[in-house]
Amino acid sequence: MNSINFKPIATLREPTELVAHGLASLADLSDLEKVAARYAVAVTPDVAVLIDPDDPGDPIARQFIPSAEELMTGERENADPIGDHAYSPVTGIVHRYPDRVLFKLVHICAVYCRFCFRREMVGPGKSSGLSQGAYDHALAYIRAHPEIWEVILTGGDPLMLSPRRLAEIMVDLAGIDHVRIIRIHTRVPVVEPSRIAGEMIAALRVKGATTWVALHANHAREFTEKARAACSALVDAGIPMVSQSVLLRGVNDNAAALEALMRAFVECRIKPYYLHHGDLAPGTSHLRTTLAQGQELMRGLRGRLSGLCQPDYVLDIPGGHGKSPVGPNYLSQENSSSAEREPHPETRYRILDYCGDIHLYPPKP
Ligand code: SF4
Repeated sequence: MNSINFKPIATLREPTELVAHGLASLADLSDLEKVAARYAVAVTPDVAVLIDPDDPGDPIARQFIPSAEELMTGERENADPIGDHAYSPVTGIVHRYPDRVLFKLVHICAVYCRFCFRREMVGPGKSSGLSQGAYDHALAYIRAHPEIWEVILTGGDPLMLSPRRLAEIMVDLAGIDHVRIIRIHTRVPVVEPSRIAGEMIAALRVKGATTWVALHANHAREFTEKARAACSALVDAGIPMVSQSVLLRGVNDNAAALEALMRAFVECRIKPYYLHHGDLAPGTSHLRTTLAQGQELMRGLRGRLSGLCQPDYVLDIPGGHGKSPVGPNYLSQENSSSAEREPHPETRYRILDYCGDIHLYPPKP
């Protein structure tokens, strides 16, 4: 890279544009074009300006600027790493857990994250979104399943819809009696905060259901003044927010970066919710950590940060078996195998404190 990073006036989508703005080197252009032919590229002006072109390990660049490493697909990597297809009864719906569904409305995003677990399905070259017929079918499915309490709008990024279309969808969903919660998964407040304007906020609030927004961000530098103002506008409008982050090598895989990220969420009135272990998406191994590293970082967070700042570290089990918390574990049984589900009545518990010291706890109250 070279140091001519000036703020572009529009989203950068071509490797040649990245080179022209000093965000990728000319020597890498041919590889980056191969990557871009397979996986979508988009870097908004708000993101481009955050990248330090003189830092080869810049944590913002690692998330959004394509790399030749993406051309290598690992043996265990998979186009559908969390098994959405296996749990999709109708187009646009993933019904994995009884009380909630994913509703995938659009296949486009403001930015394209290099680690995205749906990278084979999102982008302008993929399907453009649900047809009216598919949308009606998906809605009929939700209506016919009274156990669905929560609908999670995801994609793609649902805040790429126009406020008018989003408002119609919110009204449709809130009109279904058993749908009480509509959760929106988005990266827009940090990567294109200007979209969070009055009309969009009004669209998110709907009579008959409660809206939650889950914000995806992975580094504290994403919380610019404009991003913080966008989050503030959502929360001030009465929309509760939670966080989602992905643990990424070279982005947030150290205690200081994770600590700053979780503090930034809480300062913006966003409760840290999930820290995802990187999924086995194709061409993403250079961005994944091991589970042991993730557990060690979580142990570090427990010692350093307020309980308000603690996310759950979770893994989406490949094949569609859902999310499981992956520790670290603080409780074990003294002198017994961890495979035993019920402790012997006389077996004491061993409990680890936040400093790493072990204490014993009696078996009976
Ligand atoms: S915003 Fe979400 S869906 Fe879009 S590329 Fe990033 S991780 Fe994937």
